[in-house]
Amino acid sequence: MTRSEAAAIDWNAEFEERASLMIGDLRSLVELESPSRDPEAIRPVALAVSKMLAASGASVDIVEEHANGPNIVAKFGKGERPVLILGHLDTVWKRGTLASMPWRIEDGRAYGPGVLDMKSGLVIVAEALNGLRRHDIAVPVTVVFNCDEEIGSESTRSLVAEQAQNARAALVFEPAITGGAAKTSRSGIAAYRIHVRGRASHAGVDPEKGVSAILEAARIVVELHAMNDLSSGLSVNAGIIEGGTRANVVAAEARMDVDVRFRTSDQAIRIVDAISGLAGARGGALVTVAGGIDRPPFEATPESLELFARAAAAARESGFELGRGHVGGVSDGNFTAALGIPTLDGLGPDGAGAHADHEHIVIADLSRRAAMLTRLLIDIGGDRQ
Ligand SMILES: [Zn+2]
Repeated sequence: MTRSEAAAIDWNAEFEERASLMIGDLRSLVELESPSRDPEAIRPVALAVSKMLAASGASVDIVEEHANGPNIVAKFGKGERPVLILGHLDTVWKRGTLASMPWRIEDGRAYGPGVLDMKSGLVIVAEALNGLRRHDIAVPVTVVFNCDEEIGSESTRSLVAEQAQNARAALVFEPAITGGAAKTSRSGIAAYRIHVRGRASHAGVDPEKGVSAILEAARIVVELHAMNDLSSGLSVNAGIIEGGTRANVVAAEARMDVDVRFRTSDQAIRIVDAISGLAGARGGALVTVAGGIDRPPFEATPESLELFARAAAAARESGFELGRGHVGGVSDGNFTAALGIPTLDGLGPDGAGAHADHEHIVIADLSRRAAMLTRLLIDIGGDRQ
């Protein structure tokens, strides 16, 4: 089949016909609760998703090297430079959440824990590959669904990086921005713990002998917050501060935890310098700074914007307009983008309430986004048939 023959298939009708099957698959995944760091709960989801992927003829491996649980690596089609598709099996919801937040459908929306973030994305990916299989279209695709994205992919960063090698593009099926837009950039994140050591003394008897770690920590907080440049996407927040022992003791110790977000690598370099520069002797106290960049920023590039343009064209043919935007939250897309791979994120369905109890998706998006992904894969990978 040529690429134009593949593009001429009435994908919209085909996936609309499969809408109720997709809803059934989604329900079965939502009803398998899979909190992060709960391998026994994640395993049944990994098995169910493996079956969905295997139906497309993909060779599916369950990789379980880490305590956080099983991960899926599936290879579809053949070719040197596959399209990498990323997703995660875990959710932020603890076991038992279904009792208070059961699966339900209302006004064209499906509700339930993890329905948006991101079990619907998993169903869309499996469905699109199954669609290609029905027509014997062999686009090279590597799928990685990890088990711990919601806790910073703490055990699966190298798995993602390894599978990303030679990828021609990365498509991330995290939820869309509410309203349906894809994510063409994400902030990066850094985390710090700043520790201040002063000198204790009796606050009433000989206060002049003490050096207040709390006073110095307070000065540091003011300096940190002055680094904020919200309009350019740089935010700095001392979110936790603690120190001291008693009201009548000049505090010998204080510490704080700081969250930093930035949009560009230039901002990252500057803010890392500025925060590292707080370390050393200050006002008689000794300041140490630990931490650094946790995820690099995912910045739009000419290549990623071209990828977006192709996705937007595929969306239009699939019956909807795909916008794009920036978000502050991070995903595994930050890693692939930092590796120089054109990355497009937020391709999962429209909806709202990720990590909140009104979490839901727009059901109509299941079919049309499966159609979009199928078209996009044919477009960017289909020259190897
Ligand atoms: Zn997610």
